[in-house]
Amino acid sequence: MNAEIISIGTELLMGELTDTNASWIAGRLPALGIQLQWVSIVGDDLPKLTEAFRKGWERSDIIFTTGGLGPTQDDLTREAVAAALGEAPVVQEAELENLRQWFRNRGQDMPAHNVKQAHLIPSAEFITNRNGTAPGWWAERDGRHIVCMPGPPGENRAMWQDAIDSRLKDLIDTEVTITRNIKTLGLGEASVDEIISEFFGLENPYLGIYSKADGIHLRIIARANDEATARGMIAPVESAIHERLAPYIWGYDDETPELSVGAALVARGLTLATMESVSGGFLANTITEAPDSSRWYRGGSVAYTPDAMIAAGVDAGVLETHGVVSQPTANAMARAAQCATAADFGIGVTGVLGPDELEGHRPGTIHIAIATANGGPAREFPLRTPPRRLVIKRRSCNTALTELRKLIAEVAL
Ligand code: ATP
Ligand code: MG
Repeated sequence: MNAEIISIGTELLMGELTDTNASWIAGRLPALGIQLQWVSIVGDDLPKLTEAFRKGWERSDIIFTTGGLGPTQDDLTREAVAAALGEAPVVQEAELENLRQWFRNRGQDMPAHNVKQAHLIPSAEFITNRNGTAPGWWAERDGRHIVCMPGPPGENRAMWQDAIDSRLKDLIDTEVTITRNIKTLGLGEASVDEIISEFFGLENPYLGIYSKADGIHLRIIARANDEATARGMIAPVESAIHERLAPYIWGYDDETPELSVGAALVARGLTLATMESVSGGFLANTITEAPDSSRWYRGGSVAYTPDAMIAAGVDAGVLETHGVVSQPTANAMARAAQCATAADFGIGVTGVLGPDELEGHRPGTIHIAIATANGGPAREFPLRTPPRRLVIKRRSCNTALTELRKLIAEVAL
């Protein structure tokens, strides 16, 4: 099934608004086995929108749209679909009553403009919007579909989850699509590509490679008539990836570094503490993105000067001998964090954020250490990243967490 997305709104064309709706929808389609062919942006202009729908209707089995379902005069999606399909919108009394009720519940009278949100063409049905007034439209004729959603992300995502996803699954139920994401860190995209090169270029199972902030992700997608067959097609590719990249793999599917670390710590009843300089709190912030982090994260500090490091328990002699940007300092930070809270693991992160060099080291020079409660030497992870502030913070944080994830499996505590 071929699909296209039309994102509607002059704001998008003016560069005032970034089209995150299209990328969100695009991200849902591979797993459904729907092939996205086109994405376009069209302003709030009836002739141009109508033309976009006519063209889409010819070339795509399904058109997804967001935006232009509001009550104002520049909300023209319904009018354009009606014009492209040559059908006349008719007011639907039941929906009109729903809208009136929606306003009554908020102690207001429904403005006259909202009546247009209760219109429907004969080929379309409403899609309920639990987060707003604008119902969606699902038009279906001659085996083709137009699915119109409101612009606000909170509304279209809820609509997708409530009604659209399941209906799409029913539409394509002759095929099952299974995806498997494998997440690595430590090798560049080109190296990963080379190591598993023979699996690229196949259509089914398809192997995609994506460079993300937390490393190189590999996505295997298989389509078959039943789930077992699709899984059977994924298995040999997945085991080859495993065989060749095992030391770099830190997670699967929807796992994030913090969720993966959290799950591994909880499974063994272990805890973590941190001390960071160069990442400026990014590490603690990322860790606490995990909803259950209070079960396994004891706390952390941002020590941004040598004095602050000493106050937090780092030995002044280590700083004097080796400097702030050094592996021994990272090791001492990790140990101090671990001891301060009697955690099972302590992470220390130091380095240079820039723009200037520090102690003769260029921005992007990072030292990460992980100390364990068993008193052994800290594990050392020197790192070099591009000299951009956010990249430095992200990479040092993701490296620390993914290395910890691997370590948890190895150490006896
Ligand atoms: P409303 O009833 O709010 O007018 P609508 O369906 O008419 O909804 P628009 O007026 O096109 O939608 O957009 C409303 C808001 O939704 C925008 O101001 C923007 O915040 C968000 N939005 C719209 N389109 C997109 C998009 N493609 N990506 C991300 N956000 C979007
Ligand atoms: Mg609008």
